Amino acid sequence: MTDTQVLVAGAGPTGLMLAAELALRGVACRVVEQRAQESNLTRAFGVHARTLEQLDMRGLADPLVTQGIQVAEIRPTFGRASVRLPMRHPESRFPYVLIVAQARTEAMLTERARALGVEIVRGAKVVDVREDGDGVEATIEGADGTRTERAGYVVGCDGAHSQVRRSMGVGFSGSTYATHILLADLRLADADVMAVRTFVGRDGMVLMPPFGDGWVRAVIWDRRRQDVPLDEPLGIEEVAASLNRLAGHDLGVREMRWSTRFRSERRQADAYRKGRVFLAGDAAHVHSPLGALGMNTGIQDAMNLGWKIAAAVHGWAAPWLLDSYHPERHPVGAAALRLTDLLQRISVAPAPIRAIRPFLARGALAIPAISDTLRRRVAGLSIAYPPQDPGHAHAWEGRRVADAPLSTGRLYEALRPGRFLLVQRGDTKPLDTGDRADRLDTARLAETADSAIPAVMLVRPDGYVAWAADEGTKDHPDEVRTALSRWCGPAHNHTPTT
Ligand SMILES: Cc1cc2nc3c(=O)[nH]c(=O)nc-3n(C[C@H](O)[C@H](O)[C@H](O)COP(=O)(O)OP(=O)(O)OC[C@H]3O[C@@H](n4cnc5c(N)ncnc54)[C@H](O)[C@@H]3O)c2cc1C
Repeated sequence: MTDTQVLVAGAGPTGLMLAAELALRGVACRVVEQRAQESNLTRAFGVHARTLEQLDMRGLADPLVTQGIQVAEIRPTFGRASVRLPMRHPESRFPYVLIVAQARTEAMLTERARALGVEIVRGAKVVDVREDGDGVEATIEGADGTRTERAGYVVGCDGAHSQVRRSMGVGFSGSTYATHILLADLRLADADVMAVRTFVGRDGMVLMPPFGDGWVRAVIWDRRRQDVPLDEPLGIEEVAASLNRLAGHDLGVREMRWSTRFRSERRQADAYRKGRVFLAGDAAHVHSPLGALGMNTGIQDAMNLGWKIAAAVHGWAAPWLLDSYHPERHPVGAAALRLTDLLQRISVAPAPIRAIRPFLARGALAIPAISDTLRRRVAGLSIAYPPQDPGHAHAWEGRRVADAPLSTGRLYEALRPGRFLLVQRGDTKPLDTGDRADRLDTARLAETADSAIPAVMLVRPDGYVAWAADEGTKDHPDEVRTALSRWCGPAHNHTPTT
């Protein structure tokens, strides 16, 4: 039997991000992946602003951005009419959707996890997990037979058909869409290969992100092909016929290198935590690819969970901290299911709605409040978490922290070690943070920083405000002490009172 502090099932984007987050904090972590080889399969293309911001908090955004294409607006075309959803986020350093193949994102995360010392065991499948009060036992099948591993915690990042979820008896409530999707990688004669093109036709819609090398991925929802058995081969003629009919003109399909039929589901795990076992990414939520939210939500789950498990492993997590994962992330997953379901229903709407769809879409997006809410929702910029003490919470608690200039560098750069950050305005007196250097850094805002930022704020390692105070309360040491011990645990030099 081998022991590890945390066992992660699945080396998709969620598992890799989580493992890197754990290893960043010195947690011994092993990832078990059933595929023998690294994946070169691409499902996700769209990386949204909030994910890029969180990757920036670990120094990973800029290397990924250089590999992708920046798209500043989403423009679905309904026949001859098109509508625009701007993605030029004024509040973010990443004012676009980054189009980059999932395989590249995974390759970057694999390199990061390995560099931090994560052991990734390929060709090994988790077939069962059993939790007891002190740890979790996992049964793993590999090329060398079946073995048992014991871990302090197990995280199921093993995708939609998660074995970890099944072993723990956690329900996956929801339904399967009637319309299956056609996926094909194509070369087109009529190709604007640097833009994401979207066509909404009478019978469904097409989304075409570019790979950036002359190939495009066609994601096709076609009501006329929805009853074809999933295992029937998908040829270039069928793809071209669907594509041209939905686009309303001949797109000139020249070559196809890969294709498949895929049935998407709308399901969410009833519980994200059961004792020492957690679920993240597609293991916790699956939905339509419209909106490009799945991988983004999974990477963000990992950012939420990694530092919390590490705090528990290191022994300073408050009892409620691991429990906060479900109430913080389950509503985000549920919102992703609702939004993608709405987009899916609009895309494959029945005939009477199809006719008025362009007018409704244009009318709705012409209202700035609607367009802005949708933009922020899709980009993940409006995600906020419930404050710990709702009765006494500062208005900023639970909010996303935007990047801000510090006296030295940027706020997101200061989060790269993965610790809490106590940020103060330049004119406030230094605060006593106790001996917590292993989990807390301090920083000063630059004079040029937004004046709306509170005088003092404690920023979580995943870039949300844990606690904040204004001018009037800034010098109140008890408040700071209480916030620090609630979130960051007792200081090393702390003497418990009896
Ligand atoms: C057509 C399409 C387009 C999409 N586009 C986007 C997009 O643009 N943006 C976006 O954010 N999302 C998109 N998604 C969704 C996105 O691909 C997924 O949400 C994402 O891959 C989930 O990552 P994950 O790591 O949670 O799960 P997965 O990527 O499914 O990874 C799970 C891993 O676990 C392994 N595994 C499974 N079972 C076991 C086991 N028992 N033991 C060990 N290992 C196991 C699997 O081999 C796999 O490597 C799209 C999906 C589709 C289908």
